[in-house]
Amino acid sequence: MYTYEQLACADRLFGSSYYIFDSEKLKENYRKINQAFASRYPRFLIGYSYKTNYLPQLCALINKLGGYAEVVSRLEYDLALKIGVDPSRIIYNGPVKEAADIEAALHGKSLLNLDSFYEIELVKRYCEAYPERMVSVGLRVNFDLQENGVNPLQDGREASRFGFCVENGAFQRAVEELSRIPSLRISGLHGHFSSDRSLAVYEKIAGKLCQLARVCLPETVEYIDVGGGIYGELPPSFPIQNTPTFDDYAEAVCRVMHAEMAAYGHVPLLILEPGIAMAANAFSFVCKVIDVKDVRGQTFVLVDGSVHNVKPTMHRHNLPHQIVRRQNGGEPGVFHVVGYTCMERDCLLHQVTGKLPRAGDYFIFENTGAYTMVFNPPFIKGRPPIVQRCENEWRELRGRETLAQFFSDQLYRFEPLSVSKIR
Ligand SMILES: *Cc1c(COP(=O)(O)O)cnc(C)c1O
Repeated sequence: MYTYEQLACADRLFGSSYYIFDSEKLKENYRKINQAFASRYPRFLIGYSYKTNYLPQLCALINKLGGYAEVVSRLEYDLALKIGVDPSRIIYNGPVKEAADIEAALHGKSLLNLDSFYEIELVKRYCEAYPERMVSVGLRVNFDLQENGVNPLQDGREASRFGFCVENGAFQRAVEELSRIPSLRISGLHGHFSSDRSLAVYEKIAGKLCQLARVCLPETVEYIDVGGGIYGELPPSFPIQNTPTFDDYAEAVCRVMHAEMAAYGHVPLLILEPGIAMAANAFSFVCKVIDVKDVRGQTFVLVDGSVHNVKPTMHRHNLPHQIVRRQNGGEPGVFHVVGYTCMERDCLLHQVTGKLPRAGDYFIFENTGAYTMVFNPPFIKGRPPIVQRCENEWRELRGRETLAQFFSDQLYRFEPLSVSKIR
């Protein structure tokens, strides 16, 4: 993928650990996902999940490709605006929104999906303050995904905490409360779940949202938003294999959409909110081998990177990786790759069998674009740079965090605390 000389050149420019963004890969993901769904359903759009990776130039590229911004906080909402996204092309989700956030979203005609009853109160207040304005909101829906006693939620969770529960009547009550506001209509339903990402889950989500829309919002439904969470394309060496393709997901969702909506006479917009599938394989992380040491038969390869850079969730799977060696060779052996922090848990790779790396070699970790950069804690060292290789040159997209940025004196105060004298 990259030669030793290319990585050594980047090392001289940016330091010995950095992310590489492959924007062509991102464009390819966008094109493939869009093609899979748009070829099967007449009205489709992608809302890219900002929290997965909100590198500004990535978000701007999504905007240019025609994707909407899917945000879950005011910080992300304001980032989208700063990048130049039209507010009507922002999907505003997330559990915590303040009155000012609701106001900004409604003013901007963003697609606002409500998650809890307190938000309905805020929307009511907005509508009372601006009775002449027509307002649209969507509702995030929560229903049981279990099928034949199998629970597809991640980590075996009993229930999701997001959205209005259908089974206990909360959803119905939310619809009724909102229907009493004359200037408001409920324009969409949203159903994102952290699940096993199976086709059956997406069939169920699409089916349930359509049924609820037909029964509860027959006049007003404009969009059905099935959320994100689909698998992206995974390299052959990835620990998980045989995952559904974009075409598989599109086929499952669009078949349900057509079947459910055929009787209904109008075609709502279908929204998908991919994060991982868009960003994960568009980034790799490079770090340099600093030293190799033996401890009672265990070999530790120390790198200038951290588990926080490659898999902040610290799962046990080894990510796909390559070693780019300064010189050929290396003794065969078994080794662990460990990072710069002072935690024993900081293990990037566990029990790798192969030729031992040597100081000065580089590791490239693939598929590190999702929930990595956004999760890098300000812990022990500044965040690494993000770079791009373009026309045989390296370009910096984010710099290496300096002391002045890490301990910004606009954030921190450096004058000594005034403390009462110790007697
Ligand atoms: C996190 C999130 C997504 C994206 O999920 P991925 O697993 O990264 O695809 C989409 N929609 C909502 C509401 C989310 O919270």
